[in-house]
Amino acid sequence: MDKRCIYYETCPILTGKAGVDEATLNNYKKIYCEAGRDMWGLCRRFQVREIVGRCPVEVLPDAPEDALEIIEKYDL
Ligand code: SF4
Repeated sequence: MDKRCIYYETCPILTGKAGVDEATLNNYKKIYCEAGRDMWGLCRRFQVREIVGRCPVEVLPDAPEDALEIIEKYDL
């Protein structure tokens, strides 16, 4: 099974649109994006996209709020 997140090709965190610095980005990749389903399933961006089909660019994989709080906060 592919270890990469199903949103790997389009996620703004990885395409550079979110303006995350390289060290942080590499960390996210290692911890979430390239670490298999069990790990990318913990990413807040993934969780929000799974529920509402989109996620604001400023939400980071390790956002402290849970997915439902993010959805409420951004009125998604
Ligand atoms: S940041 Fe989250 S949603 Fe984006 S590719 Fe990585 S694991 Fe997937």
